[in-house]
Amino acid sequence: MDFNDSKEEATFREECRAWLNDNAQRKERPDEVFGQGLSAEELMQAAREWQGRKAQAGFGAITWPEKFGGRGGSPIQEVIYRQEEGNFKVPVGAFNVSLGMVIPSFFVHTKSDAAKQHVHDALHGKELWCQLLSEPGAGSDLGMIRTKAERCTDGREGWIINGQKVWTTLAQFADCGLVLTRTDPDVPKFAGMTTFYVDMDAEGVEICPIRQANGEAEFNEVFFNDVFVPDEQRVGDVGAGWKVTLTGLMNERLSIGGVIPPELWRTTMKHMQESEMTDGSSALNDAQMRQQLSNLYLDAQGLWLLQCRGLTALGQGREPGAELSVAKIVGARTLQDFSYFAMDLKGTGGILTAEDLGDSWRLVEQLWMGAAGMRIAGGTDEIVKNNVGERVLGLPPEPRTDKGKTYKELLV
Ligand SMILES: Cc1cc2nc3c(=O)[nH]c(=O)nc-3n(C[C@H](O)[C@H](O)[C@H](O)COP(=O)(O)OP(=O)(O)OC[C@H]3O[C@@H](n4cnc5c(N)ncnc54)[C@H](O)[C@@H]3O)c2cc1C
Repeated sequence: MDFNDSKEEATFREECRAWLNDNAQRKERPDEVFGQGLSAEELMQAAREWQGRKAQAGFGAITWPEKFGGRGGSPIQEVIYRQEEGNFKVPVGAFNVSLGMVIPSFFVHTKSDAAKQHVHDALHGKELWCQLLSEPGAGSDLGMIRTKAERCTDGREGWIINGQKVWTTLAQFADCGLVLTRTDPDVPKFAGMTTFYVDMDAEGVEICPIRQANGEAEFNEVFFNDVFVPDEQRVGDVGAGWKVTLTGLMNERLSIGGVIPPELWRTTMKHMQESEMTDGSSALNDAQMRQQLSNLYLDAQGLWLLQCRGLTALGQGREPGAELSVAKIVGARTLQDFSYFAMDLKGTGGILTAEDLGDSWRLVEQLWMGAAGMRIAGGTDEIVKNNVGERVLGLPPEPRTDKGKTYKELLV
């Protein structure tokens, strides 16, 4: 395992740092969050502008091939850029799905003439793309999606889509989306699906934001009511929708499991010092509280070492192995435990009074609300554990009741 940058990595880090110093404002405190007080629309606009500037400077899509406007860089360079960007007050995350998963499957599989312009516009933040996979009855098992696309029977060269998607991140701001549909129910479930790209303002597309506990609406329900899509917006062959989807899901591996932000650690320690037990003494003097904090510290350190292993593999041009699956489970759970612990220090009124505690609590609050979602997105804990069991530990596979059956047979 190698904790240090190689010579090339150190040079690249310097390049990133220099550009960021010239183009962005450094955070005054590590726990400073971009966009305090901005509306969701204003945050999105700021994210689009920042993405545009990054793309101009060659940092917009570091791992994409040059022929699609990327830098042709390595995954480790992407990680280095993100580490450096984390020190600056800039909008992060809004383009993760669009540029990290959706557009890479689009440019690999599309034959559309309009693709070049779309890829360019997405890279430069002019277009945001969303991922329309999950449905009310299909999430972990996407093979069971019901949204259907049927060939037009009125002479038009295209398809009519009907159905519903759910949990679609940022659909309310998206310009286009990749939608996975059922085109043939008479073949096994993974063989009868086809992917299309749709304009999110096409007639018949209805987007309903889902209000979350924190007051934000990060996800949406998306309804398709007789939406016409020309055949040139088909991405990949008819029946190859699962292949297109897998390309996007493979790209998710770059998100490198979870890292515990150091500012969370500092905030929790500081708060522990200031919190009083019922006898008036500091929570730091309580052995049980110290033990809880030590356990979280050990989880965070273990996670950091797992991440170093993953990064070392990437840096040496190898595929990271099981460490990233394990890091995904441990990372999301530790972030949740950390924020629950920090919030509990405020007693039963913690979640009600946290917003009065100032900026340094924003991260704790965000994680308290959002960490549960991290245990679901990109594969639930149980699904990731199944994968680790079967592919890493070589345990017997889960019983499969769908083998040799068509999608239609599975519905009954
Ligand atoms: C933050 C976030 C962002 C998201 N963004 C998007 C997006 O942009 N686009 C999109 O399409 N979707 C998105 N999703 C949806 C996400 O992909 C699904 O929620 C996820 O795949 C789980 O599917 P589900 O919610 O239908 O749960 P289900 O699959 O119904 O699972 C329910 C429960 O059963 C368990 N379970 C299911 N199958 C098994 C099994 N074989 N063995 C053991 N346990 C099992 C699960 O672990 C879970 O606990 C997002 C979700 C989150 C939380």
